[in-house]
Amino acid sequence: MLSIKNLNKTYANGVKATNNVSLEIPNGLFGLLGPNGAGKSSLMRTIATLQDPDSGSIHFNGLDVLANKEQLRRQLGYLPQDFGVYPKVSAETLLTHFAVLKGLTRRGERKEAVESLLHQTNLWEARKRNLGGYSGGMRQRFGIAQALLGAPKLVIVDEPTAGLDPDERNRFLNLLAKIGENVVVILSTHIVADVTDLCPRMAMIVKGQVLAEGKPQTAIDAL
Ligand code: ADP
Ligand code: ADP
Repeated sequence: MLSIKNLNKTYANGVKATNNVSLEIPNGLFGLLGPNGAGKSSLMRTIATLQDPDSGSIHFNGLDVLANKEQLRRQLGYLPQDFGVYPKVSAETLLTHFAVLKGLTRRGERKEAVESLLHQTNLWEARKRNLGGYSGGMRQRFGIAQALLGAPKLVIVDEPTAGLDPDERNRFLNLLAKIGENVVVILSTHIVADVTDLCPRMAMIVKGQVLAEGKPQTAIDAL
C-alpha cells in the first residue's frame, strides 16, 4: 500500500504540478489517468524520490519514503517515459549489465532472473538482437523487464502505451496486470481505455489535482 498525503510541488517557473494530492494506492495495478501536462510525471518522479515535494508525505508499506529514500529505491522499479536504450547492445547483454547494477552479483541468480524476465516479457526469441532493431512495443517490454529486475515491490511506469499499436498495447498492459500480488504497480496514461480495461483502481488527475478516484467506472461516472 502506498499512501500519499497532501502532496504539493510547485516548480521554479510557478507551475503547480502537484496540488494537495492525497491518494491511497493498494497492491495491484493502479491507473493514473490525465491529459498531457496534468502532473502525472511530476507525481511519479516525486514518489520515485527523484524530486522532493514542497510539502506532504508519502508512506510505502509503513516506510516514510521522504525520510528513507535509499530504502525506497531498493524496492523500486521505475520506467520513465523517455527512457533510452543503447542501440548496439542485445537485450540479454544489457539486462545482464543492469542486473549487476541492481545488486544481482551472483552469476547463477543473475542468469535466472534475466532469463525469467526475458520469457515473461516475450523477448526470449529476440534476446540476442540489438535493441536498435526492436519495435516500439519490444522496447517498452524491454523497459519493463529492466524495471522488474530485483523483484521490486513498487513499480512505476510512465505513459508506456503511448505510440504502441493495439496488439502491443494489450500485450504490455496484460504484462503489467500479471506482475504480482503484494506489488503496487502505478501506470500513468492519457488513454481512458488503458485504465478501464485492466486497472482495478484509478485516479483522474488534472492540473495537479485529483478529480476522481476509485474503480474506473465509478470514478469516471463521478466526473
Ligand atoms: P504529465 O506527466 O501529466 O504530462 P508533468 O508532470 O510532466 O505532467 O507536467 C505538469 C506541469 O508541470 C506541466 O505544466 C509541465 O510543463 C510542468 N513541468 C514539468 N516538469 C517541470 C520542470 N522540471 N520545471 C518546470 N515545469 C515543469
Ligand atoms: P511528460 O511528457 O512525461 O509529462 P514533459 O515532456 O512534460 O514530460 O517533460 C520532459 C522533461 O522536461 C522532464 O524532465 C520535465 O521535468 C522537464 N520539463 C517539462 N516541462 C518543463 C518546463 N515547463 N520547464 C522546465 N522543464 C520542464
